[in-house]
Amino acid sequence: MLRTNTCGELRIENIGKTVVLSGWVQKVRDKGGMLWIDLRDRYGITQLILEEGKSDAAVLSVARSLSREDVISAEGPVIERSAKNANITTGDIEIQVLKLTLLNKSKTPPFTIEDDTDGGDELRMKYRYLDIRRTPVRTALELRHRLSIETRKYLDSFNFLEVETPYLIKSTPEGARDFVVPSRMNPGEFYALPQSPQTFKQLLMVAGIDRYYQIVKCFRDEDLRADRQPEFTQIDCEMSFVTQEDVLQTFEGLITHLFSKVLNVQLPAFPRMTYADAMRYYGCDKPDIRFDMQFVEMNSIVKEKGFPVFDSAELVVGINAAGCSEYTRKQLDALTDFVKKPQIGATGLVYLKCNSDGTYKSSVDKFYAPEELAKWAAAFNAKAGDLILVLAGGADKTRKALSELRLHVAEELGLRDPKVFKPLWVLDFPLLEWNEDEKRFFAMHHPFTSPLPDDVHYMSTDPGKVRANAYDMVINGVELGGGSVRIHDRTLQKQMFSILGFTDEEAQNQFGFLMNAFEYGAPPHAGLAFGFDRMCAIFSGKDSIRDFIAFPKNNSGRDVMIDSPSVIDSKQLVDLGLTINK
Ligand code: ASP
Repeated sequence: MLRTNTCGELRIENIGKTVVLSGWVQKVRDKGGMLWIDLRDRYGITQLILEEGKSDAAVLSVARSLSREDVISAEGPVIERSAKNANITTGDIEIQVLKLTLLNKSKTPPFTIEDDTDGGDELRMKYRYLDIRRTPVRTALELRHRLSIETRKYLDSFNFLEVETPYLIKSTPEGARDFVVPSRMNPGEFYALPQSPQTFKQLLMVAGIDRYYQIVKCFRDEDLRADRQPEFTQIDCEMSFVTQEDVLQTFEGLITHLFSKVLNVQLPAFPRMTYADAMRYYGCDKPDIRFDMQFVEMNSIVKEKGFPVFDSAELVVGINAAGCSEYTRKQLDALTDFVKKPQIGATGLVYLKCNSDGTYKSSVDKFYAPEELAKWAAAFNAKAGDLILVLAGGADKTRKALSELRLHVAEELGLRDPKVFKPLWVLDFPLLEWNEDEKRFFAMHHPFTSPLPDDVHYMSTDPGKVRANAYDMVINGVELGGGSVRIHDRTLQKQMFSILGFTDEEAQNQFGFLMNAFEYGAPPHAGLAFGFDRMCAIFSGKDSIRDFIAFPKNNSGRDVMIDSPSVIDSKQLVDLGLTINK
């Protein structure tokens, strides 16, 4: 054995025991007659001590030759430290080194292997194996492991079966772009990597598996936005003979279980909100409800008072930044600049200060008398000391901009505490989305989502009006997962494809395998998938998913460590039938 214990294990009770520890040299302090080494492994740091007279000269000389990240093994008794270190779990003891072996020398690492490193992002990714030695990255991976173990335990206890589905599947034109893999044995033909195991898990329901899950890699060749990975992991689930309510309860249960087991946080029952309300009160389908600041629509009180901007707007809508009436000119200008940024897209910002002395001051005093402004304040239930912020314009755009402003103001006011968790379900999404460029409907979730029973009759008359039997779980303004009750009837599925603009032939070509399966007794079924990388980030109160992935890609989709994607040699191309060697 190259060790008897780990570097995170020994305590005061172990004093007197002779141990062997192995690990990496974090630091060496040489004070002449005495020398200390901080020895690190995955489990912690233990201090080694060498003293002239107590350790052999040869051992001391090995110690003096050490530098950062050398791999060593040290043997000796556990002794009590004279100067204890309360910051580490092994801080009461040290090892008096009698034998020391250099197991492997290390080059000087390109950045410091400490909690706060001097390494930039790109460098850390290039040497990710060194980055993972750092406690924050390692603990992120440990959290990921805990979440996956607890997910498996919970789902197993409810009879879910983990079934693997293939990675080499068939490309479909719907949705985000597929990564494709050329088939050497079938020249000119390609597999696609799955964007999700959606159709397979539905086939597993037809197959009678009843409850399926998989912690599974999915691949999407989308243009990379910040914090998107071309390959990512989902907790993918499906159940038979269930209603929407069963799914919500089962997976609310999963998330509650995970928070309780992993963070010791007890979540209350999740509130539920319709998509329509989410848009109306928060301007987005994944509202952050850690704080209030709901939208108040003002059309009925602000129009026809002579202010052209409001008169011509489709929607005038605002939020109440409680307690902010003392905002300075500079702060208000900064908010105006914020909403006018092209990504936000508002043309201006109107404010109303509800002063502490009961008076009002607005940026549109010219058009609105104090009694009118009092009506605004009343609509918001505003108190003296509050600040109302108002945007106006086209309804969708204005809601979107106000949603951004709401988050921005909340951030400034410290209302987005990453340690507070406010989950909710968002329900009743529209089934279809009209695409103006292509002049056709797209499935908002995916083409297998069933309409709400009450809305089925609109499928043939007014498809845009149909609400989906779909649900998203949202936490702190982030979509954690989503799914739907599926169509399990061949005729309805066919109708759906036809609304999406597929000819019968195209539908048969691409999804024939699913529609055919539906002819052999498909049970009613429903499911959902959680973004597992994102889940890890949320549990840690972090924005970025990258540190929860052992070997992530950078923002241009590159793995800078293994240098991928890369060109392949021409022989390989020829074998794959991708090019002719001239
Ligand atoms: N497959 C869906 C997705 O990846 C989730 C689901 O409907 O289960 O978003």
